[in-house]
Amino acid sequence: MQGGIIDKDMPMDASNVMIICEKCGPTRIGHQFDEDGAKQRVCVKCGGEL
Ligand SMILES: [Zn+2]
Repeated sequence: MQGGIIDKDMPMDASNVMIICEKCGPTRIGHQFDEDGAKQRVCVKCGGEL
């Protein structure tokens, strides 16, 4: 019998992806809603848009 367990790549968790902020360097993403209610990605360190 061939085959067996196939390891599947774990889906990337977007929250774990390293983001580089222009000001802070490596940082994490935060979410913010603008006046229109649109979700924006922001740097959690400086609050700047990413
Ligand atoms: Zn930043």
